[in-house]
Amino acid sequence: MARTALVTGGSRGIGAAISKALKAKGYTVAATYAGNDEAAAKFTRETGIKTYKWNVADYDSSKEGIAQVEADLGPIDIVVANAGITRDAPFHKMTPQQWKEVIDTNLTGVFNTVHPVWPGMRERGFGRIVVISSINGQKGQFAQVNYAATKAGDLGIVKSLAQEGAAKGITANAVCPGYIATEMVMAVPEKVRESIIGMIPAGRLGEPEEIARCVTFLVSDDASFINGSTISANGAQFFV
Ligand code: NDP
Repeated sequence: MARTALVTGGSRGIGAAISKALKAKGYTVAATYAGNDEAAAKFTRETGIKTYKWNVADYDSSKEGIAQVEADLGPIDIVVANAGITRDAPFHKMTPQQWKEVIDTNLTGVFNTVHPVWPGMRERGFGRIVVISSINGQKGQFAQVNYAATKAGDLGIVKSLAQEGAAKGITANAVCPGYIATEMVMAVPEKVRESIIGMIPAGRLGEPEEIARCVTFLVSDDASFINGSTISANGAQFFV
């Protein structure tokens, strides 16, 4: 039977590319989103992938949503924790609200997504978890104290989950994209975007499909001994 994959934030941007790539590999896919009903409906019409709406920042909603996915599609074997937001501001102007929203969505959201599926994965002796972190969690970023904290936190989450899950057939890994051509990046002013591209040795933004291919590899049987690792996909942006 086809394995079932849950992709949070799977109806737009990088998540949509991941959902489509997993479906193309034969997995049964559930894609979640936060509130953009129109984009989700269009995505389902175009791909045939079922979408579910809940806020990953809320534990009870995540638990209920996951129970519904499992009732519809069967036990979840693969989780791609991809949903994420930015609320950028230089630190001296960052509000507690901006800090909280990003922590709740990007960091607590990963806990809320993985925790409800973890017991089932342990029982069945198989699981694949991939968290979409960011280059900015590896190197920090001006005006992203909140975002960088969550994305660095993701790396701690997967390294710890890997150690707890390894003996139960569960792997947990992270993908750190560099700058990828999605709405999140296209929303920054063109001048800033040009300066970002100037810092990428590849001379271009990445494509969502280039991140999706990292994920399809990490969840495959070929990656069975890769656990607690990070794949950086950033066009050769090196940093200490
Ligand atoms: P987009 O803004 O294009 O899409 C975000 C997706 O996440 C949407 O489906 C959105 O739902 C969903 N989402 C947002 N908040 C919540 C929430 N609280 N609950 C449930 N779903 C939510 O993002 P990207 O594709 O650009 O980014 C995807 C991931 O990749 C993020 O974690 C981001 O941090 C990371 N990343 C992105 C990079 C880039 O260059 N784009 C670089 C490095 C990392 P809805 O459609 O309803 O709004």
